[in-house]
Amino acid sequence: MFENLSERLGGVFDRLTKKGALSEADVATALREVRTALLEADVSLPVARDFVARVQEKATGQAVTKSVTPGQQVIKIVHDELIAVLAGEGPVEALKIDNPPATVLMVGLQGSGKTTTTAKLAKRFTEKNNKRVLLASLDTNRPAAMEQLAILGAQIGVDSLPIVKGESAVQIAKRAKTQAAMGGYDVLFLDTAGRLHIDEVLMDEIQAVRDIAAPRETLLVVDGLTGQDAVKVASEFDGKVGISGVVLTRMDGDGRGGAALSMRAVTGKPIRFVGLGEKMDALEVFEPERVAGRILGMGDIVALVEKAQETFEAEQAERMMKRFQKGLFNMNDLKMQMEQMLKMGGMQAMMGMMPGMGKMSAKADEAGLNDRMIKRQIALINSMTKKERANPDLLAASRKKRIAAGAGLDVADLNKLLKQHRQMADMMKQMGKGGMLKQAIKAMM
Ligand code: GDP
Repeated sequence: MFENLSERLGGVFDRLTKKGALSEADVATALREVRTALLEADVSLPVARDFVARVQEKATGQAVTKSVTPGQQVIKIVHDELIAVLAGEGPVEALKIDNPPATVLMVGLQGSGKTTTTAKLAKRFTEKNNKRVLLASLDTNRPAAMEQLAILGAQIGVDSLPIVKGESAVQIAKRAKTQAAMGGYDVLFLDTAGRLHIDEVLMDEIQAVRDIAAPRETLLVVDGLTGQDAVKVASEFDGKVGISGVVLTRMDGDGRGGAALSMRAVTGKPIRFVGLGEKMDALEVFEPERVAGRILGMGDIVALVEKAQETFEAEQAERMMKRFQKGLFNMNDLKMQMEQMLKMGGMQAMMGMMPGMGKMSAKADEAGLNDRMIKRQIALINSMTKKERANPDLLAASRKKRIAAGAGLDVADLNKLLKQHRQMADMMKQMGKGGMLKQAIKAMM
């Protein structure tokens, strides 16, 4: 799985990590190579483009951690982005196979591995989830396909619905539902007919079956070797019958693997399982972290950078605390704090997390320190020069006018910010005397 892509990326990153210092041009070259590698793995162009843009953005904004090389840091960013693109947004819920009998509708083109996958899933649910499973083939066009499912069922010790000649797919689905309910089965798999291409007749039939069967899950089986075509097929099936997840088969081959990377971004549907061979247990749950690890094959570096980042943050917190205790608290500190606060769910959320900060939190709110204000204040600080940020005492009337105008605000707003800065600086100094500051800074990191 992913051998070619993995090899290509490995080459790019070997070159990158050999260099001590990295120029922007080095990173740009590496990312161009990453993009090419993704495209060659048949990842769709918009997905590859977004991917590289996100890595670029993060690599530029990244604080430099001394104990790892910039190349290693870029690898970690690529690793995290791989997970993000494989996992998509939001958590993937568990397959809905509770509430017996739960129907799982299996759809896909002929030859995709649909029948094999149905049997593999049946075996898995029987053995791993302790479910009683019933299999039913709806492929009335191909008696051989119905036989195939029955044979596989017998092999893995899972019941299949007796074949009755002359029934339509909908009739079989109805009979299967009844049988599943009466027989006390937990899960019913309906293996629908496949065609070589998507056609209206097939889609109509699947829709009719879906309406009768009311499946909890509709899993599309697609051949992972077909790359972008697999993603296209998924989009079409989803548009016509609505799918809840995808199984990518033939990921054991040295195929290009691009389907796995584009699937979630393009269709919004999660890959649930991958098929890794013809045998009945050659099926794996699709886990984005593990897959990303496999593609990159650089687990050691990823772990190293994670550790370094933790250490770096702890050191930074320590440095910040020392500055604050000395009463050093300039506009850069304030801006950084504000940005951290927003990242953590805003002023109130952050203060709420710190023991004993309830009163302070109300005070801060009273003083106008809420999220909307914070955003305006960040704009004001951005409008200051480096020197002004380091030393707000420099701010005479003319400078104030320029800064306020730069942020599209009034001098009165800036005066409020300066007042708050003084209040915060005092607060920091006071908190520094107790142990509270350390807690506060830790909570923010
Ligand atoms: P269907 O027409 O979609 O039902 O496809 P089948 O289940 O009959 O599978 C077609 C062929 O692909 C069979 O020879 C399977 O053994 C094979 N196959 C299915 N899944 C995989 C897989 O994950 N890897 C490999 N290498 N072969 C697979």
